[in-house]
Amino acid sequence: MYICYVDESGVVDPAGGTSHFVLVGLAIPAHRWREYDLAFSACKARHRLADREIHVGWMARRYPEQDRVAGFDRLPAADRVAAVLRERKIDIAKAALRGPAAVKSLAKNYKKSEPYVHLSYLERTAALEDLASTLGSWSDARLFGDAQDKRAKQRARKERANWTAGDHAFEQIVTRFHTFLTRDGDPASMGMLVYDHDQAVSTQLTERMRRFHVAGTQYAKIRNIVETPFFVDSSLTSMIQLADLAAYYTRRLCENAEEEMFRRFEPRFDRLNGLMVGLRHFTGNRRCTCIICTNHVRRGRGAGTY
Ligand SMILES: [Zn+2]
Repeated sequence: MYICYVDESGVVDPAGGTSHFVLVGLAIPAHRWREYDLAFSACKARHRLADREIHVGWMARRYPEQDRVAGFDRLPAADRVAAVLRERKIDIAKAALRGPAAVKSLAKNYKKSEPYVHLSYLERTAALEDLASTLGSWSDARLFGDAQDKRAKQRARKERANWTAGDHAFEQIVTRFHTFLTRDGDPASMGMLVYDHDQAVSTQLTERMRRFHVAGTQYAKIRNIVETPFFVDSSLTSMIQLADLAAYYTRRLCENAEEEMFRRFEPRFDRLNGLMVGLRHFTGNRRCTCIICTNHVRRGRGAGTY
């Protein structure tokens, strides 16, 4: 039995701030769960992040308030936090001059990054590198992903005309995970999907999955995935946080050609005869030479169109 933890990066809305929407599933054999969960906790503890949720989008950015604290790197953790909170208070007071909306937005930003302000940018980066490498070292874990360039036109069938990038990505993850489960022809090779319960689309995903159980996806009958997705609290679920990490850096690869972090867990994307079949970069007719597309082109398929 494999448990596939799914998380996303970027926004589905075509007008949203990111050019890509990425969905990634991290599948692990159920009997390895305890060991991997402990490894994740140990990794967090090494970087003074025990008991904190790993939310890459907030950890990976720079906090300019830290740069304003003289000798920040030499301060003990408690003093770092106190100094940053003082700077933030000043920023909030300045934002108040621009109105309540500015205060609200800044306060939200600060609340999300508060669990990490005791670490410098370099220390946060080192923690994320370690987590990415830890994921990369789990030889029997598998990643499945779909990176959608939202500018690309979908050639969807009529009944899918109202599908979002999120719907297409979900179908891809379900299909790729199922293909992996059935590759060896073992009918007992089963899987289940686990999502972050914050997803606003939980009802929709549940209904989509029910449809897939009845009629299959566009590509396959889905016999080896049980149930509709289970929804859990990501702040308490380590593997969802690692799926978040993989989705975030896959998006950064597609949008900004940032390869370094992606390379650390890239070997875990499902492969068949050396071809990375577990991950697609959908770019429509646009030719793309990123690592993902190049890997597929080797077999003579058009970049981004398979
Ligand atoms: Zn590409």
